[in-house]
Amino acid sequence: MFKKGSKLYSILHLKCPRCHKGDLFHTGTWSFQDIAGMPDYCPNCKQNYMPEPGFYYGAMFVSYVFWGFFCIILGGTTIIGLGWTVNQAMLLLVFISAIFFVWLFRISRAIWFNLMVGYDKKWND
Ligand SMILES: [Zn+2]
Repeated sequence: MFKKGSKLYSILHLKCPRCHKGDLFHTGTWSFQDIAGMPDYCPNCKQNYMPEPGFYYGAMFVSYVFWGFFCIILGGTTIIGLGWTVNQAMLLLVFISAIFFVWLFRISRAIWFNLMVGYDKKWND
């Protein structure tokens, strides 16, 4: 499920969706430097990382849906399940958001890119 050739591999390792070898971003997953910095092309298969202007606007919707459900689950668990106040739950949410916003940004782009570009085995041999 997480092997090369699966979409999950490309998404979780932030690799090129076509060859699963080239990195999607200049810096590591948890780096807060150059957050949106991506190479123009994959260093391995030359896949264009910006297929068209505004290509990654769709990733905002991926991020919105993903984080929206996370907030509902976290809020429900802490407020209803654990009996926290709304302010306590909001503070935890802000704290988690501050830590994970780079990761979410990049995962959302990887998910969006993987929806549009499929794996091609010939680039991985
Ligand atoms: Zn590639």
